[in-house]
Amino acid sequence: MSAGANPLSAGANPLSAGKPGVAPLIAVRELVKTYRIGETEVRALDRVSLDIARGECVAIMGPSGSGKSTFMNMLGCLDVPDSGSYRLAGDEVAGLSDDALAAIRNRSVGFVFQQFNLLARTRALENVALPLLYAGIGRTERERRARECLEQVGLGERLEHTATPRPRSHASRLSGWRSPARRSTLPCCCWPTSPPARSTPAPRSR
Ligand code: ADP
Ligand code: MG
Repeated sequence: MSAGANPLSAGANPLSAGKPGVAPLIAVRELVKTYRIGETEVRALDRVSLDIARGECVAIMGPSGSGKSTFMNMLGCLDVPDSGSYRLAGDEVAGLSDDALAAIRNRSVGFVFQQFNLLARTRALENVALPLLYAGIGRTERERRARECLEQVGLGERLEHTATPRPRSHASRLSGWRSPARRSTLPCCCWPTSPPARSTPAPRSR
C-alpha cells in the first residue's frame, strides 16, 4: 500500500471529507511499515495517509499482499509503524508502548478477527460478553449487553448454546457482536464482505 498509487493518500481520498471543522476520528499521515526477513525487505505500507470521520464506514480493499492486514493492525493498535503519525480521537498513538496500546485497545477498539477467535465449549452469551470482562464491567451488565446484542441478530434463542463447531454464520455473528457489546469507538472487521455482515444489521459503534 503506497502513497503514489494509493487512493487512500491524503487529499485524494473521497471518503475523508468528514464535516468541515470537525477533527477526524482517525488521522493517518505518511505511515511506513517495512518487514525484514534476513536480507529481504518488504515495504508493506509506503507513506499511507487518510482521514476517517466518526461514524464513517470504510472498507480497505486491494489485492492479496497489498498491505491491508498490516494497515488494519496499525489502525487497531495491534502493531506500530516504523514512521509516520496516527492520531486516534486526537491522541497520537504511533509511538506508544505495548502497555499503552493495550490500554487503548481495551478502551476503544473492537476487533472482529477473520478466524473469529471464539472460545470452544463456552456459551454464546459468555463469548460475546468476554471483552467486557477485560474492560472491568460487572457480570450482570456484561450479560445484559451481550443478550441485547445477540437478540438483535436473531440469536436470542441460542444464548446458552455451546455446541462446537458452530455453523460459520453463527460464529461470524457472535464474533461480530463482541465489538458493539463493548460499545467500541473503533470497530475493525477483517471480514466486512462475508454473507452474515450483509444479511444482518451492521455492528454499530456508540
Ligand atoms: P494483505 O492483508 O493485503 O494481503 P499483508 O498486510 O498481510 O497484505 O502483507 C503485506 C506484505 O507484507 C506482503 O508482502 C506480506 O508477505 C508481507 N508481510 C506481512 N506480514 C509480515 C510479517 N510478519 N513478516 C514479513 N512479511 C510480512
Ligand atoms: Mg490480509
